Amino acid sequence: MADLDTSTGWCCDGRTWTEHAHAGGHCCQPEGTQLDDLPPEGKQAAEERLEQAT
Ligand SMILES: [Zn+2]
Repeated sequence: MADLDTSTGWCCDGRTWTEHAHAGGHCCQPEGTQLDDLPPEGKQAAEERLEQAT
């Protein structure tokens, strides 16, 4: 089971907001950014990660 914490939203590069915030101190997206708010490439990357996490 992967630890994808989607409760805080998503990053534009397909990571979760939490992952990028932990890696870089902050995320490039506002907290709570949803899949539909991401650019197409980011949304696709995020959906692929969700599939791999299940
Ligand atoms: Zn980010």
